[in-house]
Amino acid sequence: MYHLENNQVYVGFIIDLNYKNPHLFPYMEFQRFKHHPQISKVLEGGKRVAYGARAVTKGGFQSMPKAAFPGGAMLGCSVGLVNLPRIKGNHNAMYSGMAAAEAAYAAINMGRSGDVLESYDAELRSGPVGKDLRTVRNVAPLAARFGPFGGLVLGGFDMWFQSIFKFSLFGTIKHGKTDAQSTGKAANYSKIDYPKPDGKLSFDRLTNVSFAMTNHEESQPSHLHLTDPACQFL
Ligand SMILES: Cc1cc2nc3c(=O)[nH]c(=O)nc-3n(C[C@H](O)[C@H](O)[C@H](O)COP(=O)(O)OP(=O)(O)OC[C@H]3O[C@@H](n4cnc5c(N)ncnc54)[C@H](O)[C@@H]3O)c2cc1C
Repeated sequence: MYHLENNQVYVGFIIDLNYKNPHLFPYMEFQRFKHHPQISKVLEGGKRVAYGARAVTKGGFQSMPKAAFPGGAMLGCSVGLVNLPRIKGNHNAMYSGMAAAEAAYAAINMGRSGDVLESYDAELRSGPVGKDLRTVRNVAPLAARFGPFGGLVLGGFDMWFQSIFKFSLFGTIKHGKTDAQSTGKAANYSKIDYPKPDGKLSFDRLTNVSFAMTNHEESQPSHLHLTDPACQFL
């Protein structure tokens, strides 16, 4: 929860997508969270101003895709530049914008167009962004293997060791399975009975979408297609 001027707050809630129970509903978890006494005591009597949702791409250094392609580049969170232990990505998003602009400017000056900004991708990995993300790259995989406490201790040691000796005793640990592979079968888990939104602190999705300031053409064709429409999860 971030406190702003004019008695306003931003409330954010992050859910890892490697949860096992497929009945878990991230949207409703957040609505329920707002009723926790520590949160509700701040929100009560307030007015909803805006609502939004986004994915935090937190795979880090070992999950970064190639950031440049013919005629274009990906920046910020589309490359997954969040520093997970610090839960911060703004600094790297800005650095990536600067690096892409420098590479594009140099390319235009050389009369190039529509090719791949290889120097941008290289700068992202070897410059300040890469250094920032490389140091913390083992924290999440260690937490996945040894639990949050073990991950914190070993990850803390790894970050400290790297900042002194410039290499990691662990090398680069892979993330293991994908989030989707963590999802269990619905039949093996109980349904979660989420309380109905009260319209004061918690709201249904349709009402919240109208506070999301999103704008799209109503007639857009659906771009999501089920590979097996007979497959039922719920
Ligand atoms: C709950 C939470 C807390 C965080 N706390 C911190 C923090 O304390 N410090 C920190 O440094 N970082 C924090 N981060 C991470 C930080 O917000 C991101 O790393 C950063 O915003 C990435 O910047 P970006 O420009 O890459 O992406 P974004 O800030 O997500 O910007 C992308 C923009 O593109 C717009 N967009 C998407 N699709 C379209 C479309 N089709 N057409 C037009 N526009 C579109 C979106 O509306 C959005 O405005 C937090 C993230 C979350 C979710």
